[in-house]
Amino acid sequence: MASPDRISQTLTRHKLRHTPVRRAVLQALSASPFALSGHEVEQLLGGDVDRITLYRTLKTFEESGLIHRVIDTSDTVRYAACSMECNVHAHADDHVHFKCTSCQHIYCLNQVAIPAVTLPAKFQAQTRDYLLAGVCQECQE
Ligand SMILES: [Zn+2]
Ligand SMILES: [Zn+2]
Repeated sequence: MASPDRISQTLTRHKLRHTPVRRAVLQALSASPFALSGHEVEQLLGGDVDRITLYRTLKTFEESGLIHRVIDTSDTVRYAACSMECNVHAHADDHVHFKCTSCQHIYCLNQVAIPAVTLPAKFQAQTRDYLLAGVCQECQE
């Protein structure tokens, strides 16, 4: 799902220079079935990446729309790679996130669209975060 080729293609499609750190960060996020915090990405990369470079890379990816933030009720910011097909910005807005209360992982349910909500006229929504909690398949067994 995240072959070296797909990683290169994604960087190219978003007009980003290919650097070893960018490739490694995108690979880590693409390969993970659940969202990762900056700290978790750092641990996956095994310490040979400078922390400032790592966080700058996450910021660049987020601004360019390769990854999106995943928010839950804690203060931890996690990131998930956007689906390969997606070209536009603001992806966290369009699908539901699921937090497993057993393993604490948060999954992108890319195939589940956030239901439309009708707001009173006085309110204008700017962002949408839709988080469900429960038990993931692995923790059900
Ligand atoms: Zn779980
Ligand atoms: Zn997501």
